Amino acid sequence: MKLVLYLDMDYFFAACEELRHPELKGKPLIVGTSESLDSGKGVVMTCNYEARKYGIHSAMPLTMAVKLKRDVNYIHEDWDYYQSVSDAIMARLREYGNPLDIMSIDEAAMGIGEMDRDTALAFAKEVKKAVQDVSSLPCTVAISSGKVFAKMACDSAKPDGLKVVMPDEVMGFISGMDIEKLMGVGPKTADKLRSIGIGKISQLAGADPMVLIDALGSFGKELYLLANGTDNSRIVESYDVLSISREKAIDPAGSAAEVYPLMEELSRSLIDEINKKGFWFRTVSVKARYEGFSERIKSRRLSNYTDSLNTLTETAKRLTDTLFDGKKVRKYGVRVSTLIKSKGQKRLF
Ligand SMILES: [Mg+2]
Repeated sequence: MKLVLYLDMDYFFAACEELRHPELKGKPLIVGTSESLDSGKGVVMTCNYEARKYGIHSAMPLTMAVKLKRDVNYIHEDWDYYQSVSDAIMARLREYGNPLDIMSIDEAAMGIGEMDRDTALAFAKEVKKAVQDVSSLPCTVAISSGKVFAKMACDSAKPDGLKVVMPDEVMGFISGMDIEKLMGVGPKTADKLRSIGIGKISQLAGADPMVLIDALGSFGKELYLLANGTDNSRIVESYDVLSISREKAIDPAGSAAEVYPLMEELSRSLIDEINKKGFWFRTVSVKARYEGFSERIKSRRLSNYTDSLNTLTETAKRLTDTLFDGKKVRKYGVRVSTLIKSKGQKRLF
């Protein structure tokens, strides 16, 4: 039976922020969608475990979160930064050479073939350490017989967890759980199942499949198979968060025009590499590190995949113009991401 490894970063955005704001470590922290906590709008994107102790959780309105913990620390979300951390993690996972299915900015499933229990456990440990080495962030890694069960094993082991559920252990692992724990079962599906007397995964496993199909259509059949230990979910390889970048320390520059020649040089080098590797890109980013170490990344998603040097330099030029507003730039970089393999693909334009 082929196994799947599942990685889920723990409280990812908040952990990223703790990394660059070490003074916030150990204190309740919210990363949210509004500029400020007292704007009266916005929701919690992620919060750390210290904030969860006060009952705060993701998707909660900020107005409610602040009632639970008045002096909670707050940071406005910074997707470019989280994406760059994610890119480094996913690039590290790709080094194993296994099929990789990137599920979200902080979750990935890897097809790892057949292994015995000891080998699987050692491999999970090794991947967890590699991810921590490359990111300095906490994560949970689990292995089981399919994407769904591996994800469930991962959820059950959070935070900072490590878990292996071998194929012959799956039934024991899932049967005592409530149906909501089965991936894909949301509140609506759970209500429907409860209305026909099914509240536990073990009850789902013992139900008449025809009754389930009546209630839920073909999804009912999938759930029946899952509840009986069969996980047919597939690893779909993705390339889209991989990125390739170039950056260089420079003499402090005060205007965009001063870095245009460097931008063109870095862009040519990027295009060489993506041609060699057979990729097209769809996102262009430029990055500046300013005097005093603050950084800014500006990104733009194009309407099509491309490998055009001209498109890259024109886009990077426009983005670069927005990086200069008085402060001097001492390090400058260009990145392409949202990559696909060009081989065998049709051009979209
Ligand atoms: Mg996560």
